[in-house]
Amino acid sequence: MYLGRVVEYGPTPVVINEPRHPYTRALLRAIPEPDPDLTRRKREVGLRSLDIPSLLQVPPGCSFHPRCPLYEEGLCDVERPQLLKLNGDRLAACHVVAREWAHAATRGVPVTRVPRGSGLEGGFPPQTEGFW
Ligand code: SF4
Repeated sequence: MYLGRVVEYGPTPVVINEPRHPYTRALLRAIPEPDPDLTRRKREVGLRSLDIPSLLQVPPGCSFHPRCPLYEEGLCDVERPQLLKLNGDRLAACHVVAREWAHAATRGVPVTRVPRGSGLEGGFPPQTEGFW
């Protein structure tokens, strides 16, 4: 979740080992390692900004866009990405990931939009009772 909205969802081992959303990737890279050699081998987080926006002034478009290393001007700062589902178990809300998944769809991998009222689309808390 980022600023109260689900940005990526899926089975924990899959999300941890193969994160798709730039925020998830940044979070995982920021985990401190007890081994200094591991720490040195980790790539930097690469955020555009370390400032966390106020929940009272959530940025337009994708709320992660002021910090995202994959930010695309004119798209990410204008249009809020839809939460999409890939292959039945992975969900992500990101224009770049959506483009990758659209490419996967051309190879027959099913990609669907998460419907409103599913408990994930509208932010937190979930809107559907009993979802969790
Ligand atoms: S929609 Fe754009 S700004 Fe948001 S996470 Fe994806 S690439 Fe980054």
